[in-house]
Amino acid sequence: MFKKILIANRGEIALRVIRTCKEMGIKTVAVYSTADKDSLHVKFADEAVCIGKPASVDSYLNIPHIMATAEITNADAIHPGYGFLAENAKFAQICGDHQIKFIGPTPEMINSMGDKITAKETMIKAGVPVVPGGKDLLLSVDEAKNLAKEIGYPVILKATAGGGGKGMRVVWEESEIEKSFDNAKTEAAASFKNDGIYMEKLVEEPRHIEIQIAGDQFGTVCHLSERDCTIQRRHQKLVEESPSPFMTPELRERMGQAAIKAASAINYESIGTVEFLVDKHRNFYFIEMNTRIQVEHCVTEEVINYDLIKEQIKIAQGDTISGKNHYPQMHAIECRINAEDPYNDFRPSPGKITILHQPGGHGVRVDSHAYAGYVIPPYYDSMIAKLISIAQTREEAINTMSRALSEYVIEGVKTTIPFHQQLMKNEDFISGNFTTKFLEGFTMQ
Ligand code: ADP
Repeated sequence: MFKKILIANRGEIALRVIRTCKEMGIKTVAVYSTADKDSLHVKFADEAVCIGKPASVDSYLNIPHIMATAEITNADAIHPGYGFLAENAKFAQICGDHQIKFIGPTPEMINSMGDKITAKETMIKAGVPVVPGGKDLLLSVDEAKNLAKEIGYPVILKATAGGGGKGMRVVWEESEIEKSFDNAKTEAAASFKNDGIYMEKLVEEPRHIEIQIAGDQFGTVCHLSERDCTIQRRHQKLVEESPSPFMTPELRERMGQAAIKAASAINYESIGTVEFLVDKHRNFYFIEMNTRIQVEHCVTEEVINYDLIKEQIKIAQGDTISGKNHYPQMHAIECRINAEDPYNDFRPSPGKITILHQPGGHGVRVDSHAYAGYVIPPYYDSMIAKLISIAQTREEAINTMSRALSEYVIEGVKTTIPFHQQLMKNEDFISGNFTTKFLEGFTMQ
């Protein structure tokens, strides 16, 4: 059993991990940058160590500082949260080399899914459907033109090291391809220090539906049903829910089995997510696998009544899982409350929260590190809270969400609360009739 876990992360996810550790009787070590000295994860952990300056490279990505902290504090495991070092195989390897358990999959598993083109190849071999497209990196514009002709426009250029929707360009016709190719490459190089680009057929009118899976160290894998993450802005998720309004029991079974196949193909251990695009005919295609806990894990926790962080820690300790799949018993919706101005093209709005009142009551969960007086640093992502509503039906979950949003008071910074309020009243959202393009046709009132 782990006695002490260091959390190599910040914000709400660090707090989320600390909460479960407390319930499991495990001591916690928080690490923080100078910009986060007043953060709640620092206050709530048993120990807290400053690891550097605000820039992530100096703190949350600084492997020597994090490893030194783990050694000094005698931590026997490290939870990486999401983002930062969560999918860094080198970090997982270094943890292992120092006899500190990385709470996640092995470096080999991270590597096999980290590079998207390699992941696709692995999935094709495993018999998991993938989006039609090239099997190799594109080396020139001419190569891109030829492949696009073969696949048929529209196509999408994607960064093999991609994440957060970066390095992605939709191309509708040949005249656009050169510019899009250069733009995608430049953005990928700047974001990931890897400018490798590949091409896929653009799935039209898609929904983003992902399957949560869990696998233990002994080869047992199960699925924990789906999350629908179709409501996105510039390929970044804003709202997630489970079950998906587009799901049928038959599709869930097919997608669940495909996700199990995907995870089993790499002998996956830990919890993880297999992401798919689903077209209007309910054909589904693998796009990537995330080998970590995700922001939106809470909706799954609420509908299957299951602590995913606890499960992740238990698997890392060597516990077995039953192999039984889990199905939604409730409906949960998550709204990401970001410090962004929805009336101004979602412009970031860092600063000090002067007044904060969080909603509560039946069917409401708030995961947040914010408090009145908290200063949102400009250095990291802009999420200040995840608001989750839970009810028996989707309609009731929407009503609970509307009610909770109306109680939420955050002053001092602009937030996405007004956007979510309008979304909950949108007819297409209410009817479940939307695709990943939904936001393009949405204007704030
Ligand atoms: P990232 O790792 O950057 O998040 P993903 O591959 O997970 O990239 O894709 C993010 C989003 O981009 C998807 O949810 C979807 O909205 C869009 N997308 C990606 N690939 C395609 C595709 N082939 N066709 C249509 N949309 C796509």
